[in-house]
Amino acid sequence: MNASGALTVGAFLDLAPPPWEPRDLWRRDIEVLVGHVCGLSRAEIIAHPERAIPSGECASLEQMAQRRHAGEPVAYLTEHRDFWTLDLRVTPDTLVPRPETEQLVELALSRIPQDTLARIADIGTGCGAIALALARERPAAHVVATDVSRAALSVAEDNAARHKLANVEFRQGNSAGALTGVFDAIVSNPPYVANGDPCLWGPDLSFEPKIALMGGPDGLDVMRRIAFEARAKLRSGGWLALEHGHDQQPRIVDLLQRYGYTDIESRNDSGGVPRMVVATWSGS
Ligand code: SAM
Ligand code: GLN
Repeated sequence: MNASGALTVGAFLDLAPPPWEPRDLWRRDIEVLVGHVCGLSRAEIIAHPERAIPSGECASLEQMAQRRHAGEPVAYLTEHRDFWTLDLRVTPDTLVPRPETEQLVELALSRIPQDTLARIADIGTGCGAIALALARERPAAHVVATDVSRAALSVAEDNAARHKLANVEFRQGNSAGALTGVFDAIVSNPPYVANGDPCLWGPDLSFEPKIALMGGPDGLDVMRRIAFEARAKLRSGGWLALEHGHDQQPRIVDLLQRYGYTDIESRNDSGGVPRMVVATWSGS
């Protein structure tokens, strides 16, 4: 509070974190919420903690801080998340895009030349993160984005419209079932958390759609189906790139080998965790 009894920016920044979140991350969350509610930049927030917050904004902020304290993702409170170069709308019908998935985009882009007319699919597009990043970076390509969730697809469609990305097409369907025609590349960040993993019931994840996270008893049900079905949709020499869980790499490499993929490459995320595989389908 300041001398006249009004709550200040600093008072919100000093709120105690929940037991599950380190203080620096909690403070960052509160900065984002203050910026969102009060229309302040991070620099303004840091430079002027003594700034008084109008009472109407205080009420919204208190409510949002409580919801974050209870584990709700910040992106659901602000209804958006930056991914790649895009500001994306996210809702509780869509997973909150993760920074490691930007590395799947980087991996895909490293294999898709500029100005290519490639046909690319993103299976399980959620809010459209991967599909829209690829469509933005490769405007000559045609991207097909699919999801089983109609609700997620409508958020993705809205994001494509907001960013005026006309080279993306949306289709509802299970695994590769919605894809027609032949593709040069298929990219996916499918649900891969094992159904019994307690993290599903912890902060953040417990608020996200279970259909976006739960991949069956070993987490690989949807991954297996995508790897199996993608073969019928890829041209000879086309490739499949998948994001996976921190301990799944050997099982996915084995799976891709058994399904006849070749040139299987694994990549780590920026934290050094095995996180992605890419494999070629030679059409045999
Ligand atoms: N691609 C987004 C991203 O990286 O932020 C969302 C990824 S989220 C982990 C997985 C997405 O796959 C969800 O949107 C979910 O609805 C969708 N999904 C789940 N099972 C699926 C299936 N069998 N076929 C297609 N999509 C599926
Ligand atoms: N990376 C997410 C998490 O662990 C899981 C996303 C997924 O299932 N694809 O929180």
